[in-house]
Amino acid sequence: MRTALVTGATAGIGEATVRTLVESGWRCVATGRRKERLDALVEELGPDNVQAACFDVTDEAGRDAALDALPDAFAGIDLLVNNAGLALGTSAAQDSDLADWKIMIDTNVTALVSLTHKLLPVLIERKGAIVNLSSVAANYPYAGGNVYGGTKAFVRQFTLGLRSDLHGTGVRVCSIEPGMVETEFTLVRTGGNAEAHEKLYGGADPMTAGDIAETIRWVAELPPHLNIDTLELMPVSQSYAGFQVAREP
Ligand code: NAP
Repeated sequence: MRTALVTGATAGIGEATVRTLVESGWRCVATGRRKERLDALVEELGPDNVQAACFDVTDEAGRDAALDALPDAFAGIDLLVNNAGLALGTSAAQDSDLADWKIMIDTNVTALVSLTHKLLPVLIERKGAIVNLSSVAANYPYAGGNVYGGTKAFVRQFTLGLRSDLHGTGVRVCSIEPGMVETEFTLVRTGGNAEAHEKLYGGADPMTAGDIAETIRWVAELPPHLNIDTLELMPVSQSYAGFQVAREP
């Protein structure tokens, strides 16, 4: 039985990924800060299939203590899904809160790099796989995307760098780059603004967390000689916008 560690499994894409992987016969370590949600997932899917590791990804000591406390059967990780992440704010750079920028960098970049560094030896030993959650925001700038887009561009480029460094080890690495997925993402980004959530997703038939989870499962279960380097997905309702031009009045 193979074991996956999924960060950010208390909501959205991460939670759906745990469900999908367990359905497909994986054991999962589900992580996140909201313990009651992790406990509910363990209760629902069973402790033989899911173990909770409750920690803030930006707290390395807390993370290590939680991972060290896992039962032996869950210690050997074959698949790392670096999913925990967030956007905070939609303001132009000049109007943004620096504290929000730092939280995004700490969570989306520093914590992801740190956990990956920690697990690389076991992933190499087990010829495992890493799936990193980047975003279309990595590839297409948009107004108000500033630091969020920057963090996701880092995730994409870090993924490609890992591919090079892990050459010959058998470890597979993939950057998943979704467009609009209806999750708690916009509620988090806007500080709980349900209207903003509804305005963005309403009538747009966005992708679901389950769509991305199924993609992650597919990537992870491909034959060992195949690597999906990057994978960009959007709902059919979403496409590209043009450039903007500032004119003299
Ligand atoms: P979500 O529903 O808000 O879920 C985010 C998850 O990340 C939660 O489980 C949250 O858990 C966890 N998380 C955030 N900060 C954390 C921290 N400091 N420590 C531990 N866990 C933390 O959002 P989602 O849409 O599923 O997002 C998942 C990933 O997909 C993110 O990396 C996001 O950037 C990316 N993505 C999303 C979309 C989209 O349209 N939704 C598009 C492209 C990429 P706790 O709050 O319980 O800690």
